[in-house]
Amino acid sequence: MGIFEKMEKEGHEEIIFCQEKSTGLKSIIAIHDTTLGPALGGCRMYPYLTEEDALNDALRLSKGMTYKNAISGSNNGGAKAVIWGDPKNKTEMQFRAFGRFVGSLKGRFNTGTDVGTYPNDFVWASFEAPYFVGLPESYGGSGDTSILTAVGVMKAIEACCVEVFGSAEVKGLTVAIQGVGKVGSKLADKLIDKGAKVIVSDVSRENVNSVLEKHPDVTVVSPDEVLGVKCDILAPCALGAVLNENTVNNLKCRIICGSANNQLSDESVGDKIHEMGILYAPDFLVNAGGAIQVADELEGFNKERATHKVERIYDNLLEVFRIAKRDNIPPYKAADRFVEERIAAAAKIKTIKL
Ligand code: NAD
Repeated sequence: MGIFEKMEKEGHEEIIFCQEKSTGLKSIIAIHDTTLGPALGGCRMYPYLTEEDALNDALRLSKGMTYKNAISGSNNGGAKAVIWGDPKNKTEMQFRAFGRFVGSLKGRFNTGTDVGTYPNDFVWASFEAPYFVGLPESYGGSGDTSILTAVGVMKAIEACCVEVFGSAEVKGLTVAIQGVGKVGSKLADKLIDKGAKVIVSDVSRENVNSVLEKHPDVTVVSPDEVLGVKCDILAPCALGAVLNENTVNNLKCRIICGSANNQLSDESVGDKIHEMGILYAPDFLVNAGGAIQVADELEGFNKERATHKVERIYDNLLEVFRIAKRDNIPPYKAADRFVEERIAAAAKIKTIKL
């Protein structure tokens, strides 16, 4: 498929290929949709096998950012940058060159960390232009995103409980958390604080032990068991594609709501979960807390305001469930519809010229 065909198929606005000879920087910036505002999305550094792999990743991820930004109520369009290279071989000048390319877009694209990139990489980039988020706190960044991500997951769980049990109360419910890393461990704290019974699982014994040190009463199950454990709520907070044809038939929960990205291996699994009567909360809304936090940096980070925006995940998720019922579709499809309706509505008012 030609590049313009790919852009037309998924609705991309612009692709910028950047090459800087002296540093060997090769980067692709894909801007998907800026109806809602200047584009925002992370910058991934990865040793792609081919140029086409790099382009396809940029196209796929940038579209995902349009949806994530739109559903979380942020006034940003979606984009993503990829740097084609090995993250082990980074240099200051490479990221400063990247900073200049981003700077040349004059704010049409804002970016920060993703797989293979770290806050300090963008300190270098920020020497050249001001369009970088997720910087270290000492450079004006908002810091660890897992804190607000966990706030968002907790709010999403409460919205799911309203939908399924008629009350936001988690007291007495059993929640199984797959992965107690940065987000999962903070989610465990919140759930236990609110009286839920928590089951945890992690491939890292160290991470399980740090949960047990704080909460000796949590139940621990093995990584092989956790997706099939009997519980009210399953919270995948580890890896993507954990809901797949091998795991779906073992699910014994009423709700799935966790922070992991791309939890469904494909749409048929989403349909199957819906047919099984399990409420699946779309991951890109549930885990939008981190994206909302860095988007807030563009306005000069304010923790109270950012937290308030993250808490709105609760209302947005209830709206997704409303659309799902209205249109008789699973929530994962309703989430896309919610986004498309928001973008279409914003496009209409933008016909008023300022
Ligand atoms: P993390 O690396 O700190 O934690 C992931 C945990 O999952 C680790 O403890 C790891 O040992 C464990 N794990 C890996 N494979 C497992 C398995 N098979 N079974 C059980 N546990 C397993 O990452 P995190 O920041 O807590 O993020 C968790 C998920 O949420 C990831 O999918 C991430 O992409 C997503 N997410 C994170 C943020 C954020 O702000 N940190 C924001 C949005 C989405």
